[in-house]
Amino acid sequence: MAVCIKDQIQNMNLVIGCTVGCPYCYARNNVKRWHMIDDFSHPEFFPEKMRMMDKPCPHNYLLTGMSDLAGWEMEWREQVFSKIRENPQHQFLFLSKRPDLLNISADLDNAWFGVTVTRRSELWRIDALRENVKAKHYHVTFEPLFDDPGVVDLSGMDWVVVGTMTGAQSKKVRTEPAWAYSLTEQAHALNIPVFWKEDLAPIMGEVSMIQELPQAFCEVLEAQRAWRK
Ligand code: SF4
Repeated sequence: MAVCIKDQIQNMNLVIGCTVGCPYCYARNNVKRWHMIDDFSHPEFFPEKMRMMDKPCPHNYLLTGMSDLAGWEMEWREQVFSKIRENPQHQFLFLSKRPDLLNISADLDNAWFGVTVTRRSELWRIDALRENVKAKHYHVTFEPLFDDPGVVDLSGMDWVVVGTMTGAQSKKVRTEPAWAYSLTEQAHALNIPVFWKEDLAPIMGEVSMIQELPQAFCEVLEAQRAWRK
């Protein structure tokens, strides 16, 4: 049975709101539905949530589930990076669709900076990530993958995630198996672990699912299990 990525990596929404404006954004709908903030296009920072990072039990956390790192103010980033440094028991992931707006140098052992790519015309984001973010770990998420990305320069990436459209629109648009296999072969040729998100299981076939995590994330999950015993 395919594992759900949310069981491996939990969301910690320190910032809510985003200016990127993707038409398929689930976060915008949820924020509106639950009235989390007044205006999704004006990101807000909730520093009190950083208390969760003090937990001694290790976690893998995605910090941009309802925002884009490019929309974070520098002051917010500095506070969060400082807290990340104080809590090496966790791993922290960031994602952006606007790496052209980033200018970050983060010498953090436990922070992973990534971009989302949904089609071939967005491959520039991987180059912009390498250029504008100086960090120890990089990742790229191809989700929802709308077309064949072709040959991709994955050098320097430490993790590749592939996912398809979910929800009501998934009947109209879906990722083709050949695209997911092509990305996987290219990543594996560079020894990069690949994770197909659970929504790909009906497309790829349950038994064919590839769900690899970077070693550091596996160590967190292992430590979590030991902690719960
Ligand atoms: S970048 Fe993410 S949070 Fe921002 S609009 Fe797009 S899907 Fe929503």
